Amino acid sequence: CGIFAYLNYNVNRERRYILQVLFNGLRRLEYRGYDSAGISIDDSSSFSADLEAPQSSSSSLSGLSPSLVFRQEGNIESLVKSVYQEVAESEINLEESYSVHAGIAHTRWATHGEPAPRNSHPQTSGPGNEFLVVHNGVVTNYEVLKETLVRHGFTFESETDTEVIPKLAKFVFDKANEEGDQTVTFSQVVLEVMRHLEGAYALIFKSRHYPNELIACKRGSPLLLGVKEFTEDLSNGSAFHDDVFVSKNGQPKELFLSSDANAVVEHTKKVLVIEDGEVVHLKDGGVSILKFDKDKGKHGASLPRVASIQ
Ligand code: GLU
Repeated sequence: CGIFAYLNYNVNRERRYILQVLFNGLRRLEYRGYDSAGISIDDSSSFSADLEAPQSSSSSLSGLSPSLVFRQEGNIESLVKSVYQEVAESEINLEESYSVHAGIAHTRWATHGEPAPRNSHPQTSGPGNEFLVVHNGVVTNYEVLKETLVRHGFTFESETDTEVIPKLAKFVFDKANEEGDQTVTFSQVVLEVMRHLEGAYALIFKSRHYPNELIACKRGSPLLLGVKEFTEDLSNGSAFHDDVFVSKNGQPKELFLSSDANAVVEHTKKVLVIEDGEVVHLKDGGVSILKFDKDKGKHGASLPRVASIQ
C-alpha cells in the first residue's frame, strides 16, 4: 500500500503527462503490496457531470474545478487500462495542459472493506467530490466518527475506515463557513480533522475548494516530499536546481509526495522526510510545514518546524 501525489507549478504539463507521472508513482509503490488502486485529477473540460447538489447547501461549488476520480480493484495496469478506456469514451482531453495542477494516487491494502472500486481510494466527501483523501494506515475510532457524521446527514458509500476523513473535512469546512469564517484555510481544516483521528495514517488531501493545493500529514506511516526546481527559463531545456532545499514563490517546480523514496528519486534527489505530527501544505509554489499539536487551539497549533519554504 502506498500514497503518491504530483503537483506541477508554473510548469506546463499536459493531462497525459500528469497521468503518466501518477501511474509511474504507483508502479514504484507496487512492491509494497496492494489489492486496488485509484487516482484523482482535475476536470476543467467542458462537461461537469459530477456537479450534483452538495450534501449541504452552505457551500457553493460554482466556478470550482471538479475532480475526476478513477478507482479499480486489481493491479495498476488494470487501473491504467480503465482510465484510458473511460477517457476514450468521454470528453476528457489528454492534450489539455495545466500550468498548475495537483493530482493524487493510491495503492490499497484493504484493512476495512473488501477490495472493490467503492472501497478504493481516493475516498470522497460525497457528491461533488469536495474533499478527496488517500490514506495508508487505519483509523481506529472510525466507528464513532461515522456515527456522528451520519447523525449530521452524511451518507456513507464504502465500508472503509478512511471514508470518515474526507467527510469530516467537509463537515469542518461547512461548519466554518456557517459560522461566517469564509477564510478558513486548507491547513486549518486538516488540523481540525487530525484532532479527531486516532490510529495510524499517512494522508494526502485534495479539495476543489482549494484548487492547486495539497495537504499531507502523517502519524505512524511513512511520508516524504520531493522538490524539483527549474530555472525561470524553461525554454533552454530542462535545467533545474537540485542543491538547496529553498525555493522562491513563482519559481517553476514539481512537487512529489510519497510513502516511499522510490517513487520520488527518479524525479529529484531533493527529498525531505516528513516527521510524525507534521502537516505539509503545498500552495502557490511554496511548501509550509506545520506541527500538529492536539492539545492546542481550535485548529491545533501551527508552529513552523522549518522555516516556511517559499
Ligand atoms: N484502512 C484503509 C482501507 O482499508 C487504508 C488501507 C491502506 O493502507 O492501503 O481502506
